[in-house]
This record gives sequence, structure tokens and C-alpha cells, in this order.
Amino acid sequence: MLQSTFFEVIGGAMSILRLAIPSPLRRLFDYLPPASLDAAAIAALRPGQRLRVPFGRREVTGYLLGVFATSEAPAASLKRATELLDDEPLIDATLLSLAQWAADYYHHPPGEVLQALFPKRLRDGGPHEAAGQRGWRLTTHGKGLPAGALSRAPKQAGALDLLRTESAASANTLDAAGISPGILRTLQGKGLIEPCKIATPASAPAHCHPGYTLNAEQACAVQAMLAEQQGFSCHLLEGVTGSGKTEVYLQMIATCLQRGQQALVLIPEIGLTPQTLERFEKRFACHIAVLHSGLANAQRYRAWEAARDGSASIVIGTRSAVFTPLHDPGLIVVDEEHDASYKQQDGFRYNARDVAVKRGQLTGCPVLLGSATPSLESLHNALAGRYRHHRLLRRAAEAALPAIEVLDVRKRPLRGGLSDSLVDAVKASLASSQQVLLFLNRRGYAPTLLCHDCGWVAECSACDARLTVHRGKRLLRCHHCGATNPLLHACPQCQSRQLVTTGLGTEQVESALRELLPAARILRVDSDSMQGREAMARLVEDINRGEPCILLGTQMLTKGHHFPGVSLVGVIDADALLFSADFRGEERMAQLLTQVSGRAGRAGTAGRVILQSHYPDHPGLQSMLHLNYSEQAQQLLQQRRESGMPPVGQMLILRTDCADARVGEDFLAALRSASETALSPGTTLIGPLPSPMQRRAGRFRCQLLVLAPSRGVLQAAAGVLVAQAEQLPARKGLRWSIDIDPQDLF
Ligand code: ADP
Ligand code: ZN
Ligand code: ZN
Repeated sequence: MLQSTFFEVIGGAMSILRLAIPSPLRRLFDYLPPASLDAAAIAALRPGQRLRVPFGRREVTGYLLGVFATSEAPAASLKRATELLDDEPLIDATLLSLAQWAADYYHHPPGEVLQALFPKRLRDGGPHEAAGQRGWRLTTHGKGLPAGALSRAPKQAGALDLLRTESAASANTLDAAGISPGILRTLQGKGLIEPCKIATPASAPAHCHPGYTLNAEQACAVQAMLAEQQGFSCHLLEGVTGSGKTEVYLQMIATCLQRGQQALVLIPEIGLTPQTLERFEKRFACHIAVLHSGLANAQRYRAWEAARDGSASIVIGTRSAVFTPLHDPGLIVVDEEHDASYKQQDGFRYNARDVAVKRGQLTGCPVLLGSATPSLESLHNALAGRYRHHRLLRRAAEAALPAIEVLDVRKRPLRGGLSDSLVDAVKASLASSQQVLLFLNRRGYAPTLLCHDCGWVAECSACDARLTVHRGKRLLRCHHCGATNPLLHACPQCQSRQLVTTGLGTEQVESALRELLPAARILRVDSDSMQGREAMARLVEDINRGEPCILLGTQMLTKGHHFPGVSLVGVIDADALLFSADFRGEERMAQLLTQVSGRAGRAGTAGRVILQSHYPDHPGLQSMLHLNYSEQAQQLLQQRRESGMPPVGQMLILRTDCADARVGEDFLAALRSASETALSPGTTLIGPLPSPMQRRAGRFRCQLLVLAPSRGVLQAAAGVLVAQAEQLPARKGLRWSIDIDPQDLF
């Protein structure tokens, strides 16, 4: 729908500006040009410029997509844009096409997609200020001043002479030439000079410190990638943990910088940034811009601008950085490409990995996806020949891969979830001055508070979920909506004081460990204990000093960190991973366990991995023992072929979110019956069904799942469903959304 309308710039009697306006509406809006623009200025308008426009009762920032001779809207209804905000577009045509593609592919309102390209200050209509030093230049009046006009004021004349030869000079240069700020103010007062920004000189060519001599596998991958560096190509670098993928990224980036181009590097989580950043800073003497959600607006703006004007040679960021404008991109790297955090789960539901591949295609630059545990999506693309597949099977620093064991904990006493055998293994590791990593993917003390006398359970009043006990903070907390209540000491139903906790969280394991191993150093790593990015950076530094200790943590610990001193990994509750309602459950388990295991034995010492389970014979666990990730992935992909599930089949979910459970279900049922006949054969509709967690934060969620045999059929179905949904009489309080390529069936 948008495809055809995006870029045409047509001259004509009338000029209609077509804008993307941030709003929930999946359409563009037409305006008349600002009254201040003459015909020449209107002819000079370019897609990507911002304008301030009236919208409803407010004024908002709109993004110009084209100028047209006619509008479908009645001429009388057209409003005039208030003001042109940019002299020239701040984003280039490639990035605009990427936004266009994303709006079409994800069926998301174009104004909200466009907005994702800009930092807050510019979204809010603020002025664009080029980075650079403050300086001065001659005004037109100053340029026209006859020579000798200021002969009575030699200092002022000197300043003008300097600006005449330099066209503009920085405050520092003027200062060095002995021209005081007072003289400059006088000249400004006379209307002869004006302040300006002096662009930072194109940053000195990035200097790269030499990296390692690549081993045979790494060298082979790098050569194959370099051989294809003309234009777009997509590479899946599958390398076991510690095989030197990052080293491959660094050397690929080095060649990109040597060509004078920029590299964009996406990483999954902010917790990873300090280490990754440090590695990049050690290797490259150049400006590295870092973009993530934790930045203050001003910092974010500066990093964005450095990426845009090219003064940053490397841009590292999380998900949303995929939309950062770049002066001259030459390489896009997506580290840990399988990571679920690349998928935005609300609002504009894009997958940054997929957007990165599309961006590479539009830009004509290579894209490198790396992971020890690639997603089935990427493996499927590699097998189909769409991506080149490079594999690193050996660890780079000659460390052996760890040995994995399943520990049958049935009938064994558990203290804080820990069996004696695991505790013994922990003791032995600590005694030989090594570090231990214990993994439990649940924070808090216990996931359930139960009355032993009447069976009452503490539940969230707004969600279909139990409240988690946090002992340290004396709270009951809902991990879904964030609601907190004070920890109870008596049952609200029968007033009994026999309240007991069931289930296990990291806080409880920590206190058990402190009793069992009072002399050990225990570091708990979860989002409760790690407040702020500094905390994680300090912790990683502390761990890497190598003192024996126990790291006890959630997922946070398992992502990409290098802990060379860790020789033992214990998965306290492997069972928690076994029974998932999601079709990706087994894939996630294999990825998680492989990633956790990968933390062990990274430097010299062979590692050991112990998985505690009550279901030692479960096929998922047996696979972990007998197959490597790549073999497991092959098996899972075969299952997906048989079931027609993604990545072989294609999926979307329409979700509703309502104060009244019936409203959402009725809406989806009406949508289904209104659309069904218009869908291609082979499209399968499932639902409407309540979401696995129906009520969350006080709202009822319902979903309609759509499966299709191909991308084209799915996109067609999405088009039909969205068009119908927009036509159905919207009910009060109803919110609906479409999720293309959903990651979670929640
Ligand atoms: P990955 O990103 O695959 O986990 P890294 O690139 O972090 O792997 O490499 C793992 C370890 O091996 C790091 O300590 C790294 O410095 C080292 N390393 C990587 N490549 C080489 C190489 N070619 N020679 C020697 N050591 C290497
Ligand atoms: Zn009770
Ligand atoms: Zn809740």
C-alpha cells in the first residue's frame, strides 16, 4: 500500500506534502506546504525532512515522504504545515527505504516506524545541531564589505581578513590568532559575522592494533567473507563458545575501517556492553559510538549524530541501533543473532536481526550474523543457500569443550535446590582455586507463597500469576506487571501464620549456599542484585580477577560473558526448561544449556557441566548429552518441516488486550469470519483463544494465530486481516496488534 506512494516527487500546479505522522493509523497524511516556503523552496523539499504540523488539537513532528500534485483528501480539508524543521534530510534514501520496508513487512503505522529512526530531541521537533565546534563565519553583509572599510579598527579588520580566507573559523582558532570574544561580539553587533558550527574534521583514519593470528577455521571464514565483499551478502558464523567469533568480527571490522567505511555492531543486552566495548576500544583507535536504551537523551543524540556524520567509525548498540543513520556503512555485525532480545515485544514489533539483513541488502554491504547457537531461522536460511554458512568447531585458545552430565536428583535430599553431589563438586572446584557458575533462571526467594492450613496462594490481583517472594526486600512482587505488596505473615483467608514458600529462586539458593559454604565468596547476579550498568561492569571486572568464587545467577550471566576462571557450571533446575508450551521450547532449551555450558573451561582447564534433573531420561536432556547444538538444531528443523511451523512455515499473531475478556474474543471472532474467505488456501487460522497468560496488568489478552506455507501467503493474509480489523467497529477499550514472526506465544 505504501510502496507505490513513498518516493515519487512530482512537480505540478499544486504541491501536496505527504507525511508520516506518529499515530496508530496505518496511513500517510497530506498537508499543504508551510506558508513561509516559496516555489523554489517547495521544489527543493526532499523525503526525510521533518516538518511541524497541526494534528488533531496538537502540533506534532511529521516526516516528509513525498511531494505530489494531487491529494485524495478534499482540498478544503487540507491543513497547512506550520514549519519546515530541517534544511536537508537527516536520513538518507536507503534508511528511508528500510523504514518503508519495515512498515510494510510488520504492518506497523509508518509514522511510528519513521519515529524509530530519530532520537527523542528530533522527534520532539527540536533543532538539528551538527556536531562540531562552535565557530564564526562572515554574513552576506560581511562578505560584501569593501576592503579597508574597517581601517580604523585594525583588530576587527584582522578578524574579517581571517574569516575571508578561512570561510569559517573555530572559536579556538580565532582565540589563537589573538582575536578576543569582545571583538567578535562587536562584529556580530555590526551584522558582519555570525556564529556557526564547524564540522569536526573527518575522523583520522581508524587505527587498528594487530589482532591474533587467525587459526585455520577463522582464517577460512574471514577469507570467504572478504572474497564476497562487493555488495550485499549475508554470512552466518556458527562457532562454538570460545571459538573466536569475536576475533573474526574484529578483523572483518578492521578491513571495513581500512576501506574508510563504518561498521554497525548489534549486541543483545546492555549487560554485555562493558566487556564488548572494552575489547573494541583496545583494538581500534577510533571513535566508537555506543547506543542503548540506558543513555540519557543528550548522550543518545550525540552518539546518533556521530554515527550519522561519520565521525564514529564503529557504532555498537542494542536492538534499536539497527535504525541508526550511518554516513557510509560497510559492514553490519549481529552478535548472538539467536537472542530473543532482538525482537521488540510491544509497539513496533520488529526483529533487529532481520531488519539488519534487510538493511545490508538495501545498502549493498555484507551482514555477519554470529552465534554459538544459531536460531533455526538463520540455519534454515543458510541451508537454503540464502546465507553463507561458516563454522568454527574448535575453541580458539585451545580450551576443551566441557563434559556435560545429567545428575538424577530423584529421592536425593536437596537444600536450597542443591544436591550433595553438586555441593561436593562446588567445594572441589573452590578448593582448587577455580570459579563456579550456578544457573537458576528465577529471581527472588520463591515463586509461591502458600498457606499450609487452608491452601491459599498469594496471587497478583491484576494478572493470572503468582506473586514471587522477595525476602531481602520483604516484598511480594509480580514479575509480570511489577506490582508489589508487603510480605504477609498471616494468611488473609484463615489468619493462620503457617505461610510456607514453595519453589526456588536465586535469593533462596544464595542463602542455602551461605549456610553450606560459609567461607565461600558468593556473587549473586540477577536483575535484583545488579541495579545499573555500572554494577555489571564492576562485577565482571571482579570475577575476571580470578579469585575462587561462586557466581549464582539467571540468564543475565549466560550471555556472551567470558569468565576464564570458571571450570564448573551447575544448572540447578534443568526441569524448569523441559516443559514449555511454546513450539520453540526445545530450541530455547538447547540454546540456553549450550550457552551456559559454554561458560565453563574457557581458558586451559577442561570444564564440567552438571544438570540437576528429576527427568534424566527426558529426550531434551538426552540430546544435550549425545548431540552437539548443531545436530540438535538439525533434528529440530526436521520437526518444524513436519509440523509446518516457523521457520519452515510462516506465522503471525493478532492479539487483543481489553478490560473485558469478551470484547477481545468477539473482535477476533468477527475478524476471523470477515476475513476467512479472502485468505489464500493453505492459510490456517487458530483461535481466537485466550493467551497462555490471559490476564496481565488487569487486562485480558486473546489471540488469533495464523500459519501460512510461505512468506507471500502470510503477508497477503496479514494485509487482509489488518484491513478488516481497521474496518470493524472498534469497541471501547479494545487494543489490537499484529505480530509478524512472533517470538513468544504469550
Ligand atoms: P567467541 O566470540 O566465539 O566466544 P572469542 O573471540 O571471544 O570467542 O575468543 C575466545 C578466546 O580465544 C578469547 O580469549 C580470545 O582472545 C581468544 N582467541 C580468539 N582467537 C584467537 C586466535 N586466533 N589465537 C589465539 N587466541 C584467540
Ligand atoms: Zn490460610
Ligand atoms: Zn501482576
